[in-house]
Amino acid sequence: MANLTISRPAPDRSLEKKDWYQRNRERILSRAKERYHQKLTADPVGLRKEQHRRHNENRQRINARQRARRALRSEQRKLEAREWRRENRELSKLISAQYKAKRLECAFVPVAVEDWENTLAAFSRACAYCAGPYEQMDHVLPLERGGPHCLANLVPSCRRCNSSKHAHFWFDWYAAQTFFNQIRCGQIVTLLEGLP
Ligand SMILES: [Zn+2]
Repeated sequence: MANLTISRPAPDRSLEKKDWYQRNRERILSRAKERYHQKLTADPVGLRKEQHRRHNENRQRINARQRARRALRSEQRKLEAREWRRENRELSKLISAQYKAKRLECAFVPVAVEDWENTLAAFSRACAYCAGPYEQMDHVLPLERGGPHCLANLVPSCRRCNSSKHAHFWFDWYAAQTFFNQIRCGQIVTLLEGLP
């Protein structure tokens, strides 16, 4: 007949405890006060040390918890931002470009995603210079040279062309490339005619 008792999880007594505390609050507090005064008269230095130690321990615990929460929140925000950029790839590129223009104090006219998508389609979503893969948004007249951020100054570009062209005047740079192409060049010139 041994071990016939089934162990059950302890019932949640937190409500009972709360209730008990409420009913005995006065008594508990006055006993604590009494103990405090006893300690204060018996060993005031020890008491102060004890208080300091507890305070520090609590502070450290609170700080650690706050640090962990902050780290988690910032990680979540980063993930959300990354997700948003993935879902709004072109819009996020346009926003970054506009920020850059603002930072460099260039003129800018906000570009609508739909209009930019039209430009992408016009260049068959390929690099406007070498017809390679579209990877980056390029300002034909570089922002670094005071070119404006607007639809008429934006073309799709591959990474390599974008970094090779950098702040050069676009035509001088393009004419010197082995992949120079009359038709694509004409397309860019037509686009630039829309500059304000
Ligand atoms: Zn290219």
